[in-house]
Parts: sequence; structure tokens; C-alpha cells
Amino acid sequence: MRKFKTESKKLLDLMINSIYTNREIFLRELISNASDAVDKLYFRSLTDSDVQLSADELAIDVAFDKDARTITVSDSGIGMNKDELEKNLGTIAHSGSLDFKTENAEGEQASAVDIIGQFGVGFYSAFMVAKKVVVVSKRYGEDEACSWTSDGVEGYTIADAERENHGTDVILYLKDDADEDSYSEFLSEWKLRELIKKYSNYVRYPIRMEVSKTRTLPKPEDAGDDYTPQHEHYTEIETINSMVPIWKRKKSEVTDEEYNEFYKSDFHDFVDPLRTMSVHAEGMLTYDALLFIPGRQPYDLFSPDYKKGLALYSSNVLIMEKCEDLLPDYFGFVRGVVASEDLTLNISRETLQHNTQLRAIAKKVEKKIKSELADMRDKDRDAYEGFFKNFGRNLKFGIYSTYGQAASTLSDLLLFYSAKQEKLVTLDEYVDAMLADQEAIYYAAGNSVERLAKLPVVQSVLDRGFDVLLCAEDVDELCLQSMFQYKEKEFKNVSGGNLGLETEDEKAAAEAAAKDNEALFAAMKDALGEKVTKVSVSTRLTTAEAAPACITAEGPVSLEMEKLFAGMPV
Ligand code: ADP
Ligand code: MG
Repeated sequence: MRKFKTESKKLLDLMINSIYTNREIFLRELISNASDAVDKLYFRSLTDSDVQLSADELAIDVAFDKDARTITVSDSGIGMNKDELEKNLGTIAHSGSLDFKTENAEGEQASAVDIIGQFGVGFYSAFMVAKKVVVVSKRYGEDEACSWTSDGVEGYTIADAERENHGTDVILYLKDDADEDSYSEFLSEWKLRELIKKYSNYVRYPIRMEVSKTRTLPKPEDAGDDYTPQHEHYTEIETINSMVPIWKRKKSEVTDEEYNEFYKSDFHDFVDPLRTMSVHAEGMLTYDALLFIPGRQPYDLFSPDYKKGLALYSSNVLIMEKCEDLLPDYFGFVRGVVASEDLTLNISRETLQHNTQLRAIAKKVEKKIKSELADMRDKDRDAYEGFFKNFGRNLKFGIYSTYGQAASTLSDLLLFYSAKQEKLVTLDEYVDAMLADQEAIYYAAGNSVERLAKLPVVQSVLDRGFDVLLCAEDVDELCLQSMFQYKEKEFKNVSGGNLGLETEDEKAAAEAAAKDNEALFAAMKDALGEKVTKVSVSTRLTTAEAAPACITAEGPVSLEMEKLFAGMPV
């Protein structure tokens, strides 16, 4: 018996004690693994002419046995050998990170749902309904089959096994029914059919199940008037899923729930998408696109492992799982599918990049996302603010990393915290509310909105009637500076350079004060030495009680930016 790694064990405990109420998703997870396994082999067959696959091998079979209380999901995919069984089913990929993930930034315990979602611990979900799981597998191209058996509690055993062909059977021994929990419901044709339809309808391989049928026998020639129709019961293998790609269907004919289930099962999320966009284009460029804005931020969004891209299909065949060229980086959080008959199969990365059709589709996709976001911003501000919380950073970073080029697409989608209105505003809202004599868009940068709001320099600009955007995210100032201006209004950091806000009287008073105190300033500069470039009178602060003095930076880089740069790895 081999023991589960600590992290796996914790997760299994969660699964078995089933805090996660939606236990029926186990079937979706096992089918999606089977589909992945068939994909892997199928991809090989595209590039390796030695790999020849029959239609039967590109299918997934689901079976149940009422007496033995088992459900079996089988595929003829790539399969696993002993090492792979050990590696893939004995541990969780991100070993050691569970502790980290169970606590979120605020130090609250994440719910089981979060954990399950973050890890995509698909396979383990079997233990929500099974007291024992047996996996029998044979790796494609290898001779020995092997098995993995576990009751989910302490560990698992790996042994030699028999299996004729390559592929995998996952056999679940269902838990016994208790008063509150019935597992027997899964041992029925209609229940399994319902689950396959609900969660796996668009899996691109046929999901087959033996189903019972009844037919009425033809009336015999010699039957008398008192003949009662005779029925015959028989079984038949039926493909349960429709496989008609959901993106081909009209939006009006698909329910929200269908879209949501498709999104969750295909993109391994556990939260419904925030928005669904469906595009059907015909004419010069014929394609279908189905795009989703996720309802939450993927935990790896800003890690180097995150891969953007849309799935690319041609003639219903997946030719690329994540085609990066279809999405600009700043919309890299969007998930979805693009299907076009016009693209040739076996297209290489090289040719894709130069494919004008693909570039044209990418442009339309970008436009569609932009207009959907603008629509949400205008019509459903709460939802938009939720979106911005998750993905606003991508937009700001997009402007910065393109040296302001992306501003034409993104700037009106930005939100910043307004010190005057005490809520998030768009740049348009800021500009519209500007006073007649206001020439610039003022902002302050730091690490918390609360602290920025209390800055004397912010207060003094507010006192003059001008609003100040409080920028608490590190990328904010970089973003504003790379835009340089919005609607011909320059961005100005309230704590950098001379704001030129003082009246003539104030200027005169300052000059007089400077003269009177020349000796004092010279002494202060002497005392501070290299730490400052100069000591002078400021008209910046309107309330001396709040602060008699302030530190500012001259030149293009504010103190906050200097801090940011200082903390950057070089
Ligand atoms: P994920 O599918 O997100 O990788 P799972 O927990 O669902 O995570 O599965 C873990 C791993 O086990 C898979 O990545 C795969 O390598 C392997 N696996 C699971 N089921 C199968 C299967 N039917 N055929 C081949 N490999 C499988
Ligand atoms: Mg999986």
C-alpha cells in the first residue's frame, strides 16, 4: 500500500466528507479525463502515420451494474503505465501548494468549492460517490496493463492487470445508501443519461451507453381479433451526447444553463461565466465564435504558467487548444472557441501567424470583447465593477506594456477611485465632471486608497474643487503615464512637480516668504545634505494644520514610481 501525499489526503478528506454538495459532477470529470486521453492519442495520430485509429477507439463508454453497484467509464485513449498511475493519481500536481491555497489573501479559509476549482481535482471527485475506485489502464504502445485501487482513505495499491487494448477503465464502487444519502440513484439509465446530457453533451467524442428499449412486434398474419400487441425488450448501444458543437447553434436556441455548463466543463471552471458572447459571421469570412468572460480570476492569471488563447476548430476538429494569436494579451483572460471551415487542417504555427484570415478573425474577436465590456460598463455597473476587480489589472497593464498604443481600445474601460465622489469612475466621468478652469486630470499614487485620501497634497487639490483619482495599484501610475493624456487632458500626479494651481496672490506671498526665509532654507539644505535636492516654499498645501511640510519629486518620475522601480527585479 502506498500512502497519499499529505496534500492529496487533505483533499480526499474534503471530498469524502463531501462539503461539496454538487456530487453528481464526478461523471463529468471522469468523462472529461477520458476525452482528454482520447485527444492525446488522436493528436498523435495526426502527426504519426503509424498511429491508426478506428472510430470505435474515438468513443467513451459508460456502463453500470445495479447488483455490483458499480459505474464504469472506459476509453481507448492514451492510457497510463504504472509510473503514470502513480504520478497522476497518487499525488496532486501542485504538491505543497494546498496549504497556501486553502487560505486566501484576507486569511479566510477558502471553501471546498474554491479548492476543488483551483486544483481541477477532477479525478478525486469520484470519491464523493464511491467507497472504492479501481483504475485499469494500458498505455498505448506498451504491453503490460496495470491497475490502481484505492478506498480513498489512506493510500492506494498498484498491481499488474489484464486489459486487451490500450485505454483506461475507471470503475467506481458506489457508497452504501444511508438515510440521508442515496447513491443508488446513479445506478439507473435515466440518471446517467441525464448527467451526460447535462454536463457532457458537447464532448466531441460519442459517449455511449447500453440502453434498454422496447419495440412492438408486428401483428402476425394469423392473429385473431382478440390479439393483444406483443412487446419485445432488448438493449442497444446508444450515443447519448449530441456532439453538435454548441457554438454552431443560435444564441436564442441555447439556454444560459447550457452555455454555463459547457463553459465549466470545457474550461475547467466551477463558477458560471460573467458574460457569454456568441458570434456567427458569414460572407467573406465565415466563422463561429463563442467567448466567455470568466466570473472569477483564475488563480494563475499572473503566473508565467498562464496560457491565453482560444480553442481553434476547423471542420469540427480541434486543431489547437489555445491559439494565442486570436487574443491580444490584455484580453488574455477571455476563454472560448473559434470555429471556421475555411482554415486548413494540420495548419502549422508558422502559417497560422501569417494567416490573414486568422488575423481578421482575431480583430473581430477583439472588437466583440471590447463592445461587450463597454455595454456592461454602461448597463450593469455592478457587474462591471466585479469584472474590473478581477481583470482591470490586465487592461491597465495592456496600456502600459504597449507604450500607450492599446489606450485607444482600453482607456474608456478603465475605472479609478475618485476622491471626490468616493467611488469608482471612468475617465469619461472624471473629464465630464471637470471644472471649467481645470486643465489636468489629477491623481495620487500609493498603496492604499484610504491613506492616499488623507494626503495633504490630495486634500489641497480637492480644496480647490478638483477631483483626484486615488491609484492604489502598482500598475496604475505606469498606465496613466504611458497614456500621457485622456481627451487632451494631461495626467498630473498631485505630489510631483509644480501643479501650477496657485493664484497670483499666493504666488506673491510665496515669493515673499522665500525671501524672508532664505537663510533658514539654506541651513535646512545644509543639514539634510544629499537627501534632498532643494528646500523651498510650497503653495501646494492649503491646510498647514494637516502638514507643515511635504516631500515631492521633481521630474517625470514620482516618489511612488521610484519606490516601485526600486522594488523591481533587475
Ligand atoms: P486534470 O484532468 O485536470 O489533469 P484529474 O484529477 O482529472 O486532473 O486527472 C489527473 C491526471 O490523471 C490527468 O491529468 C491524466 O494524466 C490522468 N488521467 C486521469 N484519467 C485518465 C484517463 N482516463 N486516461 C489517461 N489518463 C488519465
Ligand atoms: Mg480532469
